[in-house]
Amino acid sequence: MALNKVSVDDINVSGKRVLCRCDFNVPLKDGKITDENRLVAALPTIKKLIADGGKVILCSHLGKPKGEPKPELSLAPVAARLTELLGQEVKFAADPEVVGPNAKAAVEAMKDGEVILLENTRYRVEETKNGEAFSKDLASLCDIFVNDAFGTAHRAHCSNVGVSELVDTAAVGYLMQKEIDFLGNAVENPVRPFVAILGGAKVADKLNVISNLLEKCDTLIIGGGMAYTFLKAQGNEIGKSLVDDSKLDYCKEMIAKAEKLGKKLLLPVDSATITEFPNPIDAPVDVEVYESDKMPADREGCDIGPKTSELFAEAVKSAKTVVWNGPMGVFENPTLAEGTIAVAKALAETDATTIIGGGDSAAAVNQLGFGDKMSHISTGGGASLEFLEGKELPGVAAATNK
Ligand code: ATP
Repeated sequence: MALNKVSVDDINVSGKRVLCRCDFNVPLKDGKITDENRLVAALPTIKKLIADGGKVILCSHLGKPKGEPKPELSLAPVAARLTELLGQEVKFAADPEVVGPNAKAAVEAMKDGEVILLENTRYRVEETKNGEAFSKDLASLCDIFVNDAFGTAHRAHCSNVGVSELVDTAAVGYLMQKEIDFLGNAVENPVRPFVAILGGAKVADKLNVISNLLEKCDTLIIGGGMAYTFLKAQGNEIGKSLVDDSKLDYCKEMIAKAEKLGKKLLLPVDSATITEFPNPIDAPVDVEVYESDKMPADREGCDIGPKTSELFAEAVKSAKTVVWNGPMGVFENPTLAEGTIAVAKALAETDATTIIGGGDSAAAVNQLGFGDKMSHISTGGGASLEFLEGKELPGVAAATNK
């Protein structure tokens, strides 16, 4: 069933107190923000709430203060930077209780169109346990709640799930809406042919993703380190390549499942192999390419080979929807990044809807300069994998249905 949530475009916040859960979990060094992408990404929703005349109360977690105030994890630097980015004061409601006397007084004094930022929600011990007291405190501050933090959507915490259950309207912001549209709805009801590409190091990390996508897609492509457990399950010599012997039966099951469902399952037909894993990871390597049924016992497959790159690119060409999670090889090494680059290029060149799961594949696509060629790059690692597993995300489920 399609997810159809009330969004910021469906609510009237004029004159109302709006609590907006953002993802301001930015890296900090000596009190300075070293990557402000998440702040920039949050601006459209915040600007919309300001323009509509809401009293905008922002909140977020930052790092893991484990339920007590830790000055080095205060959101104060975020308020200062947001003030510059918005060109309007974002008042910081310093308060060790997050919603204590100071924060309450600050909210009380707000005028329409003003913005304040609460202290790190994880200063409160209840936050990660979804404890009622803090959820009630948050709900008491607002008339309407907006959730725009996808990165924590796979967790049921006070500041996303608990508070949603205590307000009349819990809407989703623009960032959440985009993740729902692409990772939720496009994967559940894809325009076909739907090609799913999985890579990365370990089969074990993605058991449920493999199984779920096999059911949803028309073609499942498996590359990266995880492909070698599949190749071994088919009886191939895989040399010193990454393998998880405890998952050989699982791989056989998936191969049988693909056949039974009439789905195409594409595995590498050749590999770029080395004898010694590079140390440091980007050190020069001597690569030899072998076909999958001819790998010598002393080699390690560290990237898909050129024939595989072509095969995978060809499959992408005929697709209307493509989802990709996990690199095709050790992409941190320039010589072993070719397969990942080839797949990224194929996605960049197609007119299909292209969706990149969070984590390493998102980093690889951005690092290779293909970021703006994709329909959607997810901002949430764990949350995006759980969407691909077909799970219901508590932070999404808690939002009000249309
Ligand atoms: P995340 O879990 O953060 O979302 P991901 O799912 O994109 O990331 P991971 O499962 O973490 O990917 O795997 C990425 C790692 O796998 C990279 O560091 C890469 O070097 C490594 N990797 C990919 N292919 C191979 C291979 N054939 N042999 C060894 N390591 C590999």
